[in-house]
Amino acid sequence: MQLEEMKKEIEELVLEKGFYNKPEDAPKKLLFTFIELGEASDAWKKGRREEEIAEELIDVIFYVSDASRLACPSINMDDMFQKKLEKNKSSEYQYGEGHRLDHEE
Ligand SMILES: [Mg+2]
Repeated sequence: MQLEEMKKEIEELVLEKGFYNKPEDAPKKLLFTFIELGEASDAWKKGRREEEIAEELIDVIFYVSDASRLACPSINMDDMFQKKLEKNKSSEYQYGEGHRLDHEE
């Protein structure tokens, strides 16, 4: 399933279940993303089964996808994924992790 397909599936779920669905609700979705990250981390910390950890990570993906639907509705997330991947691939080795270079002497 591609990201745009996921967005549509999640939108259907949101509408069916009566969840927040306005552009101004995007920050809530992002906050919920952090909560789900915490649940994933907690599940890992407690040595839960991989399936439980994966389920929490899927919740993260759900909220990120839903936030994108509300916050940047005109963006095709499949195209953006590809664009960002290419951008990151063309960046220098360990880009954004300059602090690591300080310790590698
Ligand atoms: Mg969860």
